[in-house]
Amino acid sequence: MLNFFGEEIKKTVFISKEQLENMPEGEMRGKYIADTEIINIFPEELRGRGDFLGNVLPEGSAPAEGFCAVKKGASAEFFFDGEKLEVESYELYQSIFSRNKGILETPVMQSKRAVILGCGSVGSLVAMELARAGVGNFVLVDPDTMEYHNICRHQCGIEDVGDLKVNCLTRKLKNINPSVNIKTFGGEIQNIPKQILDEFCVPGDTVFVGCADNRTADVYSNRISIYYGAAFLSIGFWERAFAGEIFYHIPGENMPCYECALGNGSNPSARAEANHHIYSNQESTEGMKFEPGISVDINFITTIGIKLIIDILNKNNPDYRPRLLGHLTQYTLVSNTSDPEIGGEMVEIFSYPLQVTTSLRVGFGENCKGRCRYEVIEEK
Ligand SMILES: [Zn+2]
Repeated sequence: MLNFFGEEIKKTVFISKEQLENMPEGEMRGKYIADTEIINIFPEELRGRGDFLGNVLPEGSAPAEGFCAVKKGASAEFFFDGEKLEVESYELYQSIFSRNKGILETPVMQSKRAVILGCGSVGSLVAMELARAGVGNFVLVDPDTMEYHNICRHQCGIEDVGDLKVNCLTRKLKNINPSVNIKTFGGEIQNIPKQILDEFCVPGDTVFVGCADNRTADVYSNRISIYYGAAFLSIGFWERAFAGEIFYHIPGENMPCYECALGNGSNPSARAEANHHIYSNQESTEGMKFEPGISVDINFITTIGIKLIIDILNKNNPDYRPRLLGHLTQYTLVSNTSDPEIGGEMVEIFSYPLQVTTSLRVGFGENCKGRCRYEVIEEK
């Protein structure tokens, strides 16, 4: 291909230092981008997703036609139609996270762990953002399959339709950080095998994120997180995502758990009624009209939850100053509109659109008398 001045645009090989320093003979896989003449050799973990680009030939071989590499010691040189190509090599992990530098400590984030309970519109965004922040370990839980009607709110797309959401999301996360460690469970949250969590959870480094928009699942998840000494955060929505609510629990700080604070989900408590919780899942299972919300409204609320999660994960890191933790209470409401013409009378409690509450208080359950009974039980 020629540039503006009629000069040939040189082909360039992108390859990680790790790979270049130890090139095995055999196939190279990745993507050739015709518009830029860049040959991007994928990291080893993504090899299976790349196109066949060419072969690595034994040292001393004559270059083959088209693209190939010829071994030179442990490394190799690259050729196209016999002409030697420029190579740009990079430290994979450092390059990916270079723009987080000075804000999030990559080695610290790499040790962090997130259990994503529900991998729909909310869970997929949470997982993607945590992976971009450098979180290195995930458990993904969701029984559902990616369908066309999910696409306008989900991080995955047409290429993923028909596959389990946990598998679709795994591919997305590996595409951000190939070395991310992921366990998946394609079933209901309540059925997740204990062994998966036993092996995964490290107190202080782990957060459970309730993304199923389902109060019963959130109660269950918070009880499990307490068992593992892990933090919990849930993100739920009102009708059409005109507003949403974020709840977190950090173990060892004498905080009410989800059940204490917001009820157990079996029947809406008086407190829940007062807060006008309307959960899309409950609505659909009760045969009422399903109320969809649009992606940008869901994501605005979800992003505030994600910022809290990053604060919570860095809580014991002396070099990190929390952005929201300490400013937002355990229970936060976020509004996308305060106009009752749009959001109905429920949104009248908000003074302005995009309001984020900072001072709502939640209390302990009737049976708990100033101390969450689940946490007391687990401290024995
Ligand atoms: Zn409790």
